[in-house]
Amino acid sequence: MIENSKVNSTDVAIIKNDSPTKAISNGIELLGGISRFIGKEDSVFIKINLRAPSGFPVNVSMDSLRNLIILCKKAGAKEIYVGGFPENGVKTSTLSSILGLKSYLENLGAELISLDDQVTSSFSIVDVNGKNIEYPTRVLESDKLIILNQVSVDPLFKCTLSILNYYSLVSSKSQKIEKIIRSGKDYLLLDQYKQDLISNILDVFSIKKPCLVINDMFYFLEGAGPFIFKDSSIIRTGLVVSGSDAVAVDLITLKLLKIDLLSSEILLEARNRKLGITNVSEINLKGESLDANKLIVNFSVYKLNEITINNTYLQEGRICSGCFKEAYYLLNFMKTHMTKDLKYIRKQSILIGENPPEPDTVENVIVFGDCALKSTKNRDFRYIQVPKKDSTIKTVRGKIKKDNSSQNKPIMKEKVNKSIIEIPGCPPDMYMSLNTLVKYYGKTKAPNLSFYNALLNQFVFKESEKSIKKKGVNSDV
Ligand code: SF4
Repeated sequence: MIENSKVNSTDVAIIKNDSPTKAISNGIELLGGISRFIGKEDSVFIKINLRAPSGFPVNVSMDSLRNLIILCKKAGAKEIYVGGFPENGVKTSTLSSILGLKSYLENLGAELISLDDQVTSSFSIVDVNGKNIEYPTRVLESDKLIILNQVSVDPLFKCTLSILNYYSLVSSKSQKIEKIIRSGKDYLLLDQYKQDLISNILDVFSIKKPCLVINDMFYFLEGAGPFIFKDSSIIRTGLVVSGSDAVAVDLITLKLLKIDLLSSEILLEARNRKLGITNVSEINLKGESLDANKLIVNFSVYKLNEITINNTYLQEGRICSGCFKEAYYLLNFMKTHMTKDLKYIRKQSILIGENPPEPDTVENVIVFGDCALKSTKNRDFRYIQVPKKDSTIKTVRGKIKKDNSSQNKPIMKEKVNKSIIEIPGCPPDMYMSLNTLVKYYGKTKAPNLSFYNALLNQFVFKESEKSIKKKGVNSDV
């Protein structure tokens, strides 16, 4: 791992303040001042959360970012770059034009870097544990790397730690987890998807050590976050945790949220790989007391059927974290943006995972993900019984029923159920899921979903898709 800090890595500052910018400045001051981290003429890369075309706290707090840039400039930084890959192949330039980010940064003397617009030669291939990782050369060659991380809840890892933020220094394509089944191992039972994801996250993290890590939890999106959904809500904690060891900073952040090391699979693996400090007694805590500032927050639900949606019935089979995460976002999107649509649709069932139970109804059955598709190929719900057209006998004088029993019991025939919406993928991606649903329901049945999908297509996905195609990357990343 490339080291780039002069600061004692065991120091972690917990700051509580009424002002988000002061909370960051005071933390850096307590750690010895910005000049301990940034030298004169340094080129600095600030990795931020730039996830989706949504406001703060889905993305970074602009106040915190501005404050950090001003501090770096005061320390004599020659160049300050800001960036990170947005989610699902969305383009940085799209987000920038929605959020006004480029000009905002230029006015502060910093430069927004669209990592997704860079040509292949702007990436260096770094070998980590036999894996070739495409890592931005700009970050590799910067004198200093800072992680400014907005902390919120996360459906897979409880909260969005700085190490998770770091992972979006590589593209969505590089982040994609390929399903690799190991001989004699049950992929779903072992949640191999999550294990492989954690391994990839730490491989990327191990490339270059940040000099400063700031977990900004001044405002914290709890409940359904980390995006703004119907069941998300924001709380003001006034807290910021900072230090130079990302693992130690994340550990203290989790402790503030009453989560132990043993409950954090990422930090446990970081401990195995000796990527930072995972023993609280080795951390030199500065500022506020850890015990006196512990928070009670609402985390994301751990079970998909706890996301209750009007007229929607979920049947879950064996599932791994891949489908859990994507279905979590899709269900929350439906709950947030399809409330009115679902009044007209009246009933829909969602089957997810391997061998899900039969749906409650044969109408509007959404089969989500390759496991559900494969394991329900010959299920009962795929066929429906309909009355045969000529189940009556016609005479010259008119139509006479054959007998009383045939009148009560028309002859039935089996037909393929066409009320099924298949969403393939391992796991399926949000963009494809929404488009498939809109195509099936149409504007009349799902006007709200159609409207939001059109907006996303117009302003986010279409533009991103063009750029992805240009780079020769599949759109399902
Ligand atoms: S289809 Fe979904 S549940 Fe099945 S292995 Fe892939 S991600 Fe996991």
